[in-house]
Amino acid sequence: MIDQCFPGVWPDDSGFGRKSTGVLPSDGVCHRLKGPGYLSSRDGDHLTMKKLAYVLLVLFTFFVVIRMAAPAMLEHRMNVVLPHAPYAITPEARALHASLFVADLHSDSLLWSRDLSRRSDRGQMDLPRLREGNVALQVFSATTKSPAGQNYASNTADSDRITLLAAVQGWPIKAWGSLMARAQYQLDKLHTLVAEPNNGLVLVRTSSEFARLLSAREQGEDVMGAMYLIEGAHPLEGKLENLDALQRRGLHFVGITHFFDNALAGSLHGQSGAGLTAFGRAVVTRAAELEMTVDIAHVSPAAVRDILALSNRPVILSHGGFKGVCDTDRNLSDALMVEVAQAGGLIGVGYWDGAVCDATPLGVVRSIRYGIDLLGLSHVALGSDYDGTVTTHFDTSELAVLTQTMLDEGFTEAEIRAVMGENVKRFLLDQLPD
Ligand SMILES: [Zn+2]
Repeated sequence: MIDQCFPGVWPDDSGFGRKSTGVLPSDGVCHRLKGPGYLSSRDGDHLTMKKLAYVLLVLFTFFVVIRMAAPAMLEHRMNVVLPHAPYAITPEARALHASLFVADLHSDSLLWSRDLSRRSDRGQMDLPRLREGNVALQVFSATTKSPAGQNYASNTADSDRITLLAAVQGWPIKAWGSLMARAQYQLDKLHTLVAEPNNGLVLVRTSSEFARLLSAREQGEDVMGAMYLIEGAHPLEGKLENLDALQRRGLHFVGITHFFDNALAGSLHGQSGAGLTAFGRAVVTRAAELEMTVDIAHVSPAAVRDILALSNRPVILSHGGFKGVCDTDRNLSDALMVEVAQAGGLIGVGYWDGAVCDATPLGVVRSIRYGIDLLGLSHVALGSDYDGTVTTHFDTSELAVLTQTMLDEGFTEAEIRAVMGENVKRFLLDQLPD
């Protein structure tokens, strides 16, 4: 059967076709002719395929451009170090800082598609900058879900910005949808960093691994420790066995909620204000059995009280501040912070506005002083929230500015050592499994 002829687009050699008109050939057969003519429907199919290929090519090119440019653009906008003149550090402060054990309880750097083994002009933290800041132990957090319009007052769990971020950054397709896959993927990234010997990074899961790190550093070895934290336990996807699976691969710190209420508890920034659910209680109990540490950052006051009542293991608040200095919805009441400290807890003071209200080095140090006065020296630590879509006045390479500012503010050497890392060291030597 002869295909019906119709005026249409005749493909030229460039493959993109040109409009043509003409008359039906006298033999009634559609001919493939260069130039104006009639096309068969088979030719039409061919053209449709070419058009489709063209559209796909445009989409692919668009995706490649987005894939290459968007992560850097996003990070430049979201993880900001405010421009500043270099901080003046006295030789005394520099020498003291170089002698410290420095630990930071929270950084979201694994969320971004940067090679953390290289120094970057993006974000606030990478391995070279950790070294420059003399950081001995860094807790790497995994953010796995973040609602649109995220705020400190009230959020629902209905939306999620990480899906788009995962796609744009070329995460494995499984991690576009599954929160557990997102936690696993970010843990994979940490394992990759640790596996490269030139990075001088070791994963700390047990007290013996931690002791090895400490003695290596004491012998002058250029090695840093890394620990893993999930920011909210929604990646468990309601399954207790997922906690065991992540723990076997190196998870130690278990955040309970992030910005929205989840299957474990109400969030500090959710809608219910609820305490622990049955699943939340099961996770906290299992975490204690596995000698893990619960992180109460972003957790509702009711759930914090439930956690303190349920487990006799001390908790951390990996990143935050004190309401008595900074009265935002991001911070828990001073009274509850005292309860956390009385149960042996540790508070990581952040470096961004929502936690300390004044994010200058002096502002951060004033929050630290307030915490020491409120809770006692043993309960205050650092919790930067670097690369957690925060704006800071210094990146991790510039941490000596905190030592300098504490000296300027009359802190004793013992106080500086405790806050900068010795409190975390003591906590982990007590709490890590053998
Ligand atoms: Zn956070």
